[in-house]
Amino acid sequence: MMKFNPADDIQDLQYFGEFGGVNPSISDSSTYTFLSAKTMFDTFEGNADGCYLYSRHSSPSNLYLGQALAAMEGTEAANVAASGMGAITPTLLQLCGSGDHIVSSRTIYGGTYAFLKNFAPKLGIKTTFVDITKMDKVEAAITPDTKVLYCETVSNPLLEIADIASLSKIAKKHNIKLVVDNTFSPLSVSPAKLGADIVIHSLTKYINGSSDTVGGVTCASREFIDSLKNVNNGANMLLGPTMDSLRSASIMKNLRTLHIRMKQHSHNALYLAEHFEKDGLKVVYPGLKSHSGHHLYKSMINPEYGFGGMMTLDVGSLDKANELMELMQSQKLGYLAVSLGFYKTLFSAPGTSTSSEIPIEEQEAMGLTDGLIRFSIGLDNDIERTYQMMKDCMVELGVLQMEAVI
Ligand code: PLP
Repeated sequence: MMKFNPADDIQDLQYFGEFGGVNPSISDSSTYTFLSAKTMFDTFEGNADGCYLYSRHSSPSNLYLGQALAAMEGTEAANVAASGMGAITPTLLQLCGSGDHIVSSRTIYGGTYAFLKNFAPKLGIKTTFVDITKMDKVEAAITPDTKVLYCETVSNPLLEIADIASLSKIAKKHNIKLVVDNTFSPLSVSPAKLGADIVIHSLTKYINGSSDTVGGVTCASREFIDSLKNVNNGANMLLGPTMDSLRSASIMKNLRTLHIRMKQHSHNALYLAEHFEKDGLKVVYPGLKSHSGHHLYKSMINPEYGFGGMMTLDVGSLDKANELMELMQSQKLGYLAVSLGFYKTLFSAPGTSTSSEIPIEEQEAMGLTDGLIRFSIGLDNDIERTYQMMKDCMVELGVLQMEAVI
């Protein structure tokens, strides 16, 4: 049997434009005509394959991108959405209703955390947050009302690794769905191959890679994807987080270079992490042997795409973190900005930005210190030069002592 390689599966998909163009034509229409009223009725009933109805339901451009992302994750189907949150919230609302319960990792993207903690309870959906690396804690949190086990492959911002195969066993035992946000590790990890039922991405990050749009996707079985789009009770169809066709066509073009970008992000991040660790800095990167999830992650990844581009550095205090980020930005080493997966390095202090929805006591409990800087390492051509320049900034601010530098 041929080994699964997500990048090859994307590459093998071919779509042509209506004049033989090498890119598919963009469907610049919100609505579609029918030759007969009967076909329109059948399409509403979900019985007219290949017919388009209305672009909130589906459009050719969104279907192309969905097929490519399903190929990437090795799932039967996928549904693209207008943002990562536009994929996450309808997926959870499709799976859960009033009285249901979710067990979620406590270290997840702040927006997802805020949705589960503050918004979902208004709809009667409760969540228990757990340390996802402790299988006994995960299993103990499951109740007869639990419908979903939720985690990120590599958590935001602490870079904890979820043992997807073991979580999947627990989910199957209790007949609940394992939903995995794989935003930090596209291509590197294929959660569905490890037993996840549903895989979600914010396309805003690595997959699009040019920080010019937001987008999201849910990858799952054909049955689940069809349920999200059902005209009578589908959460995506009825809540309406629809991606525009022009955007999905442009994300599709960027997706084709994802494998090259991921290798470079991983190469650069590993170089910096190894060197900063040698310099004595508090660096967290899943590619380092010192990372508690290193061996697990190594056993999960498609090795050629590496350990990813996300790294954190704890510089002791928020003031120091802010000073360092401002200095690095002035030296053109990157941007003080949230988000990730850009060609340029992006850095932010998660406690006061992307995870600020998480109350301070809970941030402390999970080890999210206020001197923590989250880096999304860019596609720098000469990473040794970047390292030297970053080191100079750290020496200038006293984050690194001159004599400590080898
Ligand atoms: N999941 C993760 C891991 C994220 O980091 C983010 C955004 O930062 C999201 C989901 C939400 O995605 P979006 O901003 O596209 O809605």
